[in-house]
Amino acid sequence: MKLALIAHDGKKDAMIALAGDYLPLLRRCTLMATGTTGTRLAAAHGLVIERMLSGPMGGDLQIGARLAAGDLDGVIFLRDPMTPQPHEPDINALVRACDVHDVPCATNVATARLLLARWSGA
Ligand code: PGA
Repeated sequence: MKLALIAHDGKKDAMIALAGDYLPLLRRCTLMATGTTGTRLAAAHGLVIERMLSGPMGGDLQIGARLAAGDLDGVIFLRDPMTPQPHEPDINALVRACDVHDVPCATNVATARLLLARWSGA
């Protein structure tokens, strides 16, 4: 399974904690992430992750392009709804690409846990 992991700054600690709860699954997956999220996840959990550019520099678009090419089975995208993001159009483009291609996309921890539990076989 190929997954993308993205977290806005206000959600990065939540992403680290979430990933820690699903390490057996994530270690079996091919992972990609935006730059800072990937660096934090690799440092915290030793996960092997293909790191794209940071989100504001185009990382979301890079992941969206891979998704559109059929290279992703799911996206965990922990957005921070309380903080304006300079790259809002890129964020919308990635979520839209998930909808266009019918790829599961969790944008909050509760939904992410449902997907990760399902993919873990629980
Ligand atoms: P980051 O990008 O992982 O490089 O912080 C995430 C984002 O802001 O979309």
